[in-house]
Amino acid sequence: MTELSITRLSSTQEDFDLQLEKLLAWESVSDVKVNQIVDDILSEVKQQGDAAVVTYTNRFDLTSADTMQELELSSEHLAQAFAGLPEVQRSALEKAAQRIRHYHEKQKSDSWQYTEEDGTMLGQKVTPLDRVGLYVPGGKAAYPSSVLMNAIPAKVAGVAEIIMVVPTPRGELNQLVLAAASLAGVDRVFTIGGAQAVAALAYGTETVPKVDKIVGPGNIFVATAKRAVFGAVGIDMIAGPSEILVVCDGQTDPDWVAMDLFSQAEHDEDAQPILVTPDAGFIDQVEESIRKLLPTMERKEIIEVSLRTRAALILVEDMQQALEISNRIAPEHLELSVEDPEVLLPLVRHAGAIFMGRHTAEALGDYCAGPNHVLPTSGTARFSSPLGVYDFQKRSSLIMFSADGASDIGGVASVLARGEGLTAHARSAEYRIKN
Ligand code: NAD
Repeated sequence: MTELSITRLSSTQEDFDLQLEKLLAWESVSDVKVNQIVDDILSEVKQQGDAAVVTYTNRFDLTSADTMQELELSSEHLAQAFAGLPEVQRSALEKAAQRIRHYHEKQKSDSWQYTEEDGTMLGQKVTPLDRVGLYVPGGKAAYPSSVLMNAIPAKVAGVAEIIMVVPTPRGELNQLVLAAASLAGVDRVFTIGGAQAVAALAYGTETVPKVDKIVGPGNIFVATAKRAVFGAVGIDMIAGPSEILVVCDGQTDPDWVAMDLFSQAEHDEDAQPILVTPDAGFIDQVEESIRKLLPTMERKEIIEVSLRTRAALILVEDMQQALEISNRIAPEHLELSVEDPEVLLPLVRHAGAIFMGRHTAEALGDYCAGPNHVLPTSGTARFSSPLGVYDFQKRSSLIMFSADGASDIGGVASVLARGEGLTAHARSAEYRIKN
């Protein structure tokens, strides 16, 4: 692995800003060919329903179903998958689910209202979504943790029905994914994937019910389809490749830091692992650990590409500057690998999740810490948040005027409405003004 070269940057080099910009550049989901394929799939499913979904599933997932019914799993099937798990997996899944549920319970927001002196009542009513579609990727790997992270907040929010889709290439079912669906309380599961599954959820077919919102990650076909159906249904976000930014004071075991960088790099060749530290010697140590540990990794080919093409080891002048750079990057995962992370916390402005202290491996957050692992990527932590209960709730405003209140505030509405030239508005308010 001696030929592996990882980008090194220093905040004092003249072209630092330019180099950082180049490093962060990533083409978001947009590809003319993929758009065309996805558009065709969406319109066929819209027109032909089940028949098109079955055809595409057989084509892309190498299955041989004749009807959509063959592509649905019963709840008994899911329960059996759960019961049939080895004890160690079943209890790990249960423990993770319990911690995720407990954390998300805290996010639940309630309706509220207040009454003014004249008896007028104003407020906000919070309502869960009726039906949600959960996309669980299944093309190249299986993701039981994604089932828990998407379904549990929906359940906590009070969503009445959760429909899950998961592709099963060559019909091979992943028992842990099915068990997670059973544990999280998913209502129906279809073994379909890609753009055809997104279309089925967005438009509805004879068998697959139309949902109100589609959540969950997926490959470029899934992401493109989600973007295209947005409007007909809600979507959670369009996630880019995984990212980790480790801010370290140079005192953490370099093997730990190297493995934390690997933990995101192993997701994807495009994943972005970055170390920022004021300690030049530590950069050498981490690089040494990377060279030593990489050959031992099962997914070394993927990690190697990610390190070579998207990683960086950044030398800064001090911790304050480390956090300034981190805020510019707005990483999906930020590790504050230092003795006292609470001192740095006030300096963090943009990050999907903040992992505080040397013992807090980002990997714990991926599975079982409790907070959601579906996080904003590609700098979108500047304006968005982790997936949460709030994504499965919506709010309606409540307005109830007393006669006195309507008379009093009607004058204000009348003046503003006439100012806009909207006379029906003005007169509607004026009718209720007492003389
Ligand atoms: P997937 O389920 O997203 O995609 C598989 C489907 O893609 C197939 O069923 C097929 O319908 C469709 N497809 C494949 N080739 C096609 C083609 N040529 N034309 C039309 N459709 C085609 O599974 P995947 O491929 O394994 O991708 C999963 C993605 O999700 C990865 O990029 C992974 O990194 C990402 N992921 C992200 C998170 C997160 O939290 N951000 C979590 C898990 C997975």
